[in-house]
Amino acid sequence: MSYDVAVIGGGISGLTTAFDLSQRGYKVVVLERQNHAGGNAFSERMGGFLMEHGPSTVNAQSPSAVALSKRLGLDQEQCDLGEGVKQRYLVGRGELQGIPVHPLGFLLSNYLSLPGRLRLMSEFAVPRYKGGGEETVEEFSTRRFGKEFTDKVIDPLVAGIYAGRASELSVAVGFPKLSGLEQKFGSIAVGLYKGYRQNLSMPSKRLFSWRDGIGTLPATLTAKLGGRVKTGVTVRKIRRRANGFDIEAGSDGTVRVKSVVIATQPHVAAVLMDGVNDTAAAAAGDIQAPPLAVVYLGYKRNQVDHPLDGLGFLAPENEDQYMSGSQFCSTMFPGRAPEGYVAVTGYFGGARAPELANASADDLTDFACEEFANLIGAKGKPAISRVRHWHRGLPQYNLGHQQRINDLLNADKRVPGLFLTGNYFSGPSVAVCASQAIATSQRVAMHLAKWDELGHAETEIQMVASESGL
Ligand SMILES: Cc1cc2nc3c(=O)[nH]c(=O)nc-3n(C[C@H](O)[C@H](O)[C@H](O)COP(=O)(O)OP(=O)(O)OC[C@H]3O[C@@H](n4cnc5c(N)ncnc54)[C@H](O)[C@@H]3O)c2cc1C
Repeated sequence: MSYDVAVIGGGISGLTTAFDLSQRGYKVVVLERQNHAGGNAFSERMGGFLMEHGPSTVNAQSPSAVALSKRLGLDQEQCDLGEGVKQRYLVGRGELQGIPVHPLGFLLSNYLSLPGRLRLMSEFAVPRYKGGGEETVEEFSTRRFGKEFTDKVIDPLVAGIYAGRASELSVAVGFPKLSGLEQKFGSIAVGLYKGYRQNLSMPSKRLFSWRDGIGTLPATLTAKLGGRVKTGVTVRKIRRRANGFDIEAGSDGTVRVKSVVIATQPHVAAVLMDGVNDTAAAAAGDIQAPPLAVVYLGYKRNQVDHPLDGLGFLAPENEDQYMSGSQFCSTMFPGRAPEGYVAVTGYFGGARAPELANASADDLTDFACEEFANLIGAKGKPAISRVRHWHRGLPQYNLGHQQRINDLLNADKRVPGLFLTGNYFSGPSVAVCASQAIATSQRVAMHLAKWDELGHAETEIQMVASESGL
């Protein structure tokens, strides 16, 4: 079979790229290894419970995510965070500490010691970074906000967003807005204050999902793409031809295309680019994605003491909890648990404790029950429990990541027609993946327009030139 474009990998990144390309009129095929598309984005209904195996929220302040939902006709299915989300919680001294959802929340609560709060308040007086080297999030945050805020707030935040460690993540690529605020305003507090005044928005409007969960997004993209999504197809090799590529998919045969988009996890991209684009293959192979495990528990409401009046909680590493964080799913969005029940999710592993994510489902459930008993007063056996192991979790934007990204983004300059997209470029969130995918589709479309305009001869000359290193 021949197509204009083959998209390898049918997660949010691959499906969105393919959808956008198909709407531009290109003949596209998505090749997905699993029996269903969606990748990390997978929602499962179990009676009246709804478990999110991967993502559970979408950033409502992302124009790309909001526009995609609308383009797919899903805006009517969207739901905002529930009214019950009133506080944020962090684990401190072995208990949940509520912090008001307010820009000054950390100064108003007792979660940080008085010296810690005074140090935080003096952030505006800390001089701009003048050093030349790349900083970790921990170095940046300790320099600007002090050690206590870094250990008790920033470290759990990094675990919550990246399943990573502040001592390893690069601030420039992991939190570019923070380092940008420092460079622009000389202070994060000043920059945030100016931004906050310009863009006041209620917390409940910052995140959204759909009535039937995040799985609605890949399910709708797949339905729109119809027969163009081939599941149960593992791509094993990409071969360059004079005018495009041959994609080898084992017993599923060879697919002939003008252009290819690799939208898999980075370790698979590394294998597929081996011998095709060795610089990009090496860069993708260097990106770590430590394992993660997700434990979902449903309880009768009267089994749990805590009001569950927040998104969930995050745990600093020095609190020695098994769980790095949790979500109060039935508070976040409607329809996540039947009437009279609540649902919570616990997250394990990541860069902090990769070996823990490989524990058995039974052990992980026991760990979760024990910690939920201590932290939210969950008593007795849960009505429902389910465990999801992700053997490759989220990509780590560790020191050196910017150079890796440069090598990867230039992939199509070295090998015209070969593109990469995914959660290891500009951020792991669903919203960023969607935005990155639309940008990738535009680049593919530009390549194909040139391909069609100039014909094959020009493309061949470019390929010979790039092969000879010109
Ligand atoms: C537990 C968890 C919680 C998260 N929570 C949130 C959240 O609340 N909000 C948020 O915004 N983000 C969240 N994220 C991040 C977000 O879900 C992911 O970054 C995003 O979904 C990744 O999408 P992707 O398409 O780039 O990659 P993936 O979803 O990994 O898709 C890659 C696809 O490629 C396929 N593939 C691999 N190899 C081959 C091959 N050889 N041939 C064919 N196909 C192949 C895979 O099967 C997979 O379907 C979470 C992630 C996890 C794991």
